[in-house]
Formats: sequence, structure tokens, C-alpha cells
Amino acid sequence: MVSLQFSLVMSVFLFFFFSPLMIESRSSHFVTKGKHQHPFQFLKELEGCHKGDSVKGLNQLKKYLQKFGYLPEYYTNTNSAEDESFDDLTENAIRTYQLNYNLNITGALDSKTVQHMMKPRCGVPDIVDGRTSMNSGKKHHHNSTGLYTVSDYTFFPNNPRWPSDKYHLTYGFIPDSIQVIDIQSLSSVCSSAFSKWSSVSQFTFEETQDYSSADIKIGFFSGDHGDGVPFDGPGGILAHSFAPTRGVSHFDADDSWGVDKSSDKFDLESVAVHEFGHLLGLGHSSDPNAVMQSGIGPGERRVDLDEDDIQGIHALYNN
Ligand SMILES: [Zn+2]
Ligand SMILES: [Zn+2]
Repeated sequence: MVSLQFSLVMSVFLFFFFSPLMIESRSSHFVTKGKHQHPFQFLKELEGCHKGDSVKGLNQLKKYLQKFGYLPEYYTNTNSAEDESFDDLTENAIRTYQLNYNLNITGALDSKTVQHMMKPRCGVPDIVDGRTSMNSGKKHHHNSTGLYTVSDYTFFPNNPRWPSDKYHLTYGFIPDSIQVIDIQSLSSVCSSAFSKWSSVSQFTFEETQDYSSADIKIGFFSGDHGDGVPFDGPGGILAHSFAPTRGVSHFDADDSWGVDKSSDKFDLESVAVHEFGHLLGLGHSSDPNAVMQSGIGPGERRVDLDEDDIQGIHALYNN
């Protein structure tokens, strides 16, 4: 504890001491952890890269693509950390990313693609275990007025969902998680976020003080927090959740969270509505207006379910 406090004090000191010299990387995080302020910042340096290039930072790009499901798990195990080559698999991964997010399919790191990839986002992969797909698996159906519609919602592999005797779900706040905002605000934000889903489904949600018995457990954590998917400091990944029926949503305590609708922090309710969609079984959507779209910027607010989200939850629970 003493050394942690000391290093924090030192890093603040070093930050102010060196900041005039470090205008390009103005971040105490840089000093304390030896990396860039924003975990996705490295992508900016790679703008313009395409197949055949060999540039420092491409290994990090491949790790990014792997993290979100665009390169297989084995990829970086069989390729060394020094592998900085933009190969066929990487080009394919970029093409799939571009398809998923309705970008021009160039297979290269053009500026629009880089800009999109740098956006802070949910840590749940877009492609889960190589077994799900986003835009490439569009679902076509007729709506109630006979019009042909296309939806972009996705599910986890094997469509896991809550059983019908589990439509009343309790939720509690993990006692040893980091207190980022006061418990009353957290409670009211979560209640509001859950109500978005209960209003379009047969689910009902209730906060419980009996944490150990809660169906859904919510908390804020920093860095490695024991579930194999560490958080990455300010920016980058904001939160993650697990498919039914695990009932776990974690938020990155190192991000700045806002509950005030006018703030330029990450809007906690917007991210909560998205994460709770995962808890119910929804994956990421290619629909830029969907709550289940993966990215969100600071100050951005997206709390109202889109038609795509509603169609998704109805399709998963057959109603
Ligand atoms: Zn997500
Ligand atoms: Zn976690």
C-alpha cells in the first residue's frame, strides 16, 4: 500500500516534472505503466498500412484483432511477438472488421477504419470463439406490415439464454469492487438500464442486498481482476459481460464514468444498457443505431433500444 501510494505520488510528480518535455504523450499513465495514454492510440501510427507492410506496431494490431475475434486464438501463439508483418490473415481480419462496421472494404488501415477502431468499446469480442458473425450473417424477414426488413443483431455461440423459469432476475453489486460512483447513483442507473430491457421483454429485474444469491453481479475493476480478461486502463475497453446464465457485468474502474447526462465522461447508463443486453444473450450488432453496437465515445449517450435490439431480444426468446 505504502509503495503504491509512493509510486502514485512519484508518478504525479514525474508527470508534472516532465510534462513540458512530453507534450506528445501527456499522461501519468505513460509514466506509471510505460505505455500510451489510450490503449488504442498505437493504431494512429499505423494509418495507411496495408498488406505487405512490415512496421513496428503491427504485432499490436494483430493482438487487437485477436482480442475482438478477428484472428484466431492460436495466431499470436504461433507467431512471435516480433512478427510485425501485415500478412494475408491480417488483411482478411481487417476486411471482416470493415464489413461488420459498414466501412469501405479495403483490407487496409485507411483513416476511417483507424478512426473506427480507435473508438473506446466493449471488451466482448465481435466474433465469439470464431463461431459467430456480424454483418456477414444478416437476417432477412418480413415485419408485421409485410415489409422486408434486415436485422443485424447477433447471439453468442449456441444461442445461450435464460430458462423460462428465470425471467425474474435479481442483481447485486459486488462488495469488493472499486467504488467509482456513489451507490445511490449506481443503483438508479442500473435500475433505469434494466428497465429498458424489461419494457420490451418478459424479463423483470430487482436489486437485492443479498449479493451472494443475486442472479446478476455487477462491479467495477481495474486491470487484471481474475476472470482472464484484464481491463486496460483509461480508454480502450470500457466494460465486459458474460453470456447467459453466468450473469456477470464488469466495468473498467480506470475509465471516467459519468451519470450526469451532460458530462463528457463515459455515460454509465449507455454502457450499462449495452452490457445488460449481453447478460440476456445478445452479441454485437452492425446497426450503428443499436444499443448493441460495440463502441461509444465520451459524452455519447445511447440508452434507448433500437428496433434492431428489440428484434434481437424477441428472436432469442421467441416472442
Ligand atoms: Zn458489448
Ligand atoms: Zn471482468
